[in-house]
Amino acid sequence: MSVQSDMQEKMDEFLQLLEESVMLDSPSCDKRHGDRMAEWYARQFVRLTGGTAERIANETYGDQLRCTLGSGEKRVLLIGHYDTVWPLGEAARRPFHIRDGKAYGPGVYDMKAGVLQAIYALHLLQERDRLPRDKQVVLLINSDEEIGSPTSRTLVEQEAIHAMAAFVLEPPTEPNGAVKTWRKGSAHYRVVVEGVSAHAGVDHEKGVSAIEELARQIMYLHSLTDYEIGTTVNVGMIKGGIGANVVADYAEAEIDIRMRTTAEAVRLEEVMARLTPQLAGAKLTVTGGIRRPPMQRTEQIAALYRLAKMIAYEELGIVLEESGTGGVSDGNFAAACGIPTLDGLGARGGFAHSPHEFIYLHDVPGRTALLAGLVERC
Ligand SMILES: [Zn+2]
Repeated sequence: MSVQSDMQEKMDEFLQLLEESVMLDSPSCDKRHGDRMAEWYARQFVRLTGGTAERIANETYGDQLRCTLGSGEKRVLLIGHYDTVWPLGEAARRPFHIRDGKAYGPGVYDMKAGVLQAIYALHLLQERDRLPRDKQVVLLINSDEEIGSPTSRTLVEQEAIHAMAAFVLEPPTEPNGAVKTWRKGSAHYRVVVEGVSAHAGVDHEKGVSAIEELARQIMYLHSLTDYEIGTTVNVGMIKGGIGANVVADYAEAEIDIRMRTTAEAVRLEEVMARLTPQLAGAKLTVTGGIRRPPMQRTEQIAALYRLAKMIAYEELGIVLEESGTGGVSDGNFAAACGIPTLDGLGARGGFAHSPHEFIYLHDVPGRTALLAGLVERC
């Protein structure tokens, strides 16, 4: 029997556990509930795989969870997160339910189903004694991905440098369930402009308008967008000035920049460091930088994708496509350590971060089998 049909037979218990996990609220910024969620995953992992689960103490957010299975030399890293964007009480307001072959509930798609699929993939490998002796699987389940992984980033990087491959349990790209072979990197900057204030009626010529200076900078910054190479610059927030009759001596902007390659990230950092005022008497201060490095589609990543495609075709009879996105994940950190990383190995569904969030139940066995195959054969 195939892994997929094994999983099909376990769907009842899978759904029971999925419901339990969705009904436990786990917002990023609530340590107590985060810890409770970590404890729940630790228990399920140990029970289902016979592996070990270590809680890594965290002062601010829920404890991180590091689960391991096997003791071989070659380490395979699986990366997920248990935090959701939903506040406490959301599960009670909008409980888990199943309708028309879909499961709904807060965090079901991003990414409680993905994490549970990973645990089942390892459970099935273990049960069939198909985890290669020379491998060790490390499953990291983080508590703070939805707020930028402030405390899990180093953990991901420390694990990534010892791994031969990393698989990220974020959802694939719809409508065809493509895995992600690249993600853009992201940078965030703040530009502060200081000018000289003056009475707009009496002394207009004595003023230096911080708003005019910022407007010129915004035009320049937006001109850096280049869809061909995948670079986007977005000034997403501005403020400044105190009244229409005052030449503004202060203005500021928040800027989001995305890029596809490491070389482009370096170039953009230089561009931002070289910003200079265009108006005499204006002063510019630029702070910020790269937040997540790009997950660049290297030849190693392409090879990992070809393996996934082969497994999907041989074992599931589907043609697995690849895609990329401007959105970031912990895959960015893993890939930047130089290890081949494949993202989008979680559950299929839709509407992440929306109350309409759901997963497709009929895809769960196939996706679980795909991940199991990758862990076995990578
Ligand atoms: Zn996510």
